[in-house]
Amino acid sequence: MSVLELSRVSKRFGGLQALSELSLSVSSGEVLGLIGPNGAGKSTLVSCITGVLRIDGGTIRFQDGELQRLPPHRRARRGIARTFQKVRLADQLTVYENVAAGLASHWFARASGWSSVFQPLSATSVAEPVNRTLERVGLGDISGVVVKSLPFGQRHFVELARAIVSEPKLLLLDEPATGLTEHERERLAALVKDIAAQGCAQILVEHDLELVGRLCNRVTVINQGHHIFTGSPAAAQREPEVVRAYLGMNQLISGGSG
Ligand code: ADP
Ligand code: MG
Repeated sequence: MSVLELSRVSKRFGGLQALSELSLSVSSGEVLGLIGPNGAGKSTLVSCITGVLRIDGGTIRFQDGELQRLPPHRRARRGIARTFQKVRLADQLTVYENVAAGLASHWFARASGWSSVFQPLSATSVAEPVNRTLERVGLGDISGVVVKSLPFGQRHFVELARAIVSEPKLLLLDEPATGLTEHERERLAALVKDIAAQGCAQILVEHDLELVGRLCNRVTVINQGHHIFTGSPAAAQREPEVVRAYLGMNQLISGGSG
């Protein structure tokens, strides 16, 4: 059953039609690959789902309700989390504090109005899920390290931990493998599978098409804001319109799982 269903979603920036009547769906436990050349509208789509950007037309159904009129914090509260193409963390804070912030902002969003003042988060209620998530993501040993001293790849994992600490039902990963070492890519792949196994729906925006081929049974391909293909990664590489969209780029779909 679909957790998320976008129907004819459009988004315009001034004269630029960034998304054009785009439809897609993701099921519980599924990892949907979202691919397309630079400027295709992938990050815009992610921001439209989280609510940072308001759509101009169409509907975004999530579980049993429509999202398109809700502000970002209410969508987060319903169980939508993301990571960013360019990692956004509080550099002066520790790994633990960054991940705890993900939980705190989620809970503050949850508490409405005055109740958040009268029911402050207790340190112990935060520690348990944060520590559990840090272990799960492989950051348990460096929880006290200040983020700015971490190597690039580890920051990606801190951001991922921050996104999943609230146990979202939908996770949006915007090019999470960029800049990762081979070893880190394998760690990421294992985590994505683990998150899916717990029933979380994921959209994986990724230029590393070998990784997409391994993690996704279905990919949606977009180009210049238009949907051009949804199907298996292997079928995508045979689709002339997909191949055309990628002409001039150095990468073509490799791998493929079905
Ligand atoms: P992708 O993530 O697929 O590379 P983006 O979603 O970032 O593509 O961008 C899609 C198009 O929308 C691009 O032409 C980009 O320049 C434009 N765009 C993205 N965000 C904005 C914005 N905030 N204002 C104006 N144009 C934008
Ligand atoms: Mg992008």
